[in-house]
Amino acid sequence: MTALEERPAGAATALPTFDESSDATDVIRWALSVHPDLLMPSAFNLNGVVLLDLAVRAGYRGEVVFVDTGYHFPETLQTRDRLAARYPELTFVTLNAGAHPEDGQTASDLYASDPDACCAARKVAPLQAYLRGRAPSALLNARSRDQASTRAEIPFVEEGGARRKINPLAFWTREKLEAYAAEHDLPVSPLYAAGFLSVGCWPCTRAVRPGEDARAGRWAGKGKTECGLWAGEGQL
Ligand code: SF4
Repeated sequence: MTALEERPAGAATALPTFDESSDATDVIRWALSVHPDLLMPSAFNLNGVVLLDLAVRAGYRGEVVFVDTGYHFPETLQTRDRLAARYPELTFVTLNAGAHPEDGQTASDLYASDPDACCAARKVAPLQAYLRGRAPSALLNARSRDQASTRAEIPFVEEGGARRKINPLAFWTREKLEAYAAEHDLPVSPLYAAGFLSVGCWPCTRAVRPGEDARAGRWAGKGKTECGLWAGEGQL
């Protein structure tokens, strides 16, 4: 069991305790009460689509912020558009809209020579700049423990970085996510059924092989596991 004691900035008051059996919507409702300026970045993977649906059910009516790196699969952009049509109560924001490999933001093949620099320029920097302006006190995030060994300790409420991260799906398994998406007929990217269990940019994503972690297809063979949004010095 993993206990959580909520500690708002500047206060020592212990608030609700959650454990791994806690309902994700209860975590979101609590987060909205403590952080009414909660903001949700998303790349519209299975986890993100499920979280988005749960967040709406829990009362979230804020922004869903997506960064267009210029290297996304068309299916990802289509999934964003399907979600925007399904949830008109949310505001979908695309940063760097219209980016493409030859736009001059980076060398077009930087992903091959220095993927950390490519992610830093095309993914992390635009979101950091946006968050500096919006200044939310917390982010709603869809990571879960079973996505990868590097995420095995993710708590519901994560301190560190520039602001608190709320991870309502921390204890959800891939099977539970798939069952929820099927039950609610959620618009999951068609790439998921083709084995792309975690989808990033097309140069840095391959389908996952049987028995691999959901994120094994991200930057495979490049010695990189995270884009830098959620881990490392530049984390949000
Ligand atoms: S995932 Fe690949 S293409 Fe996308 S920003 Fe990172 S290095 Fe560049």
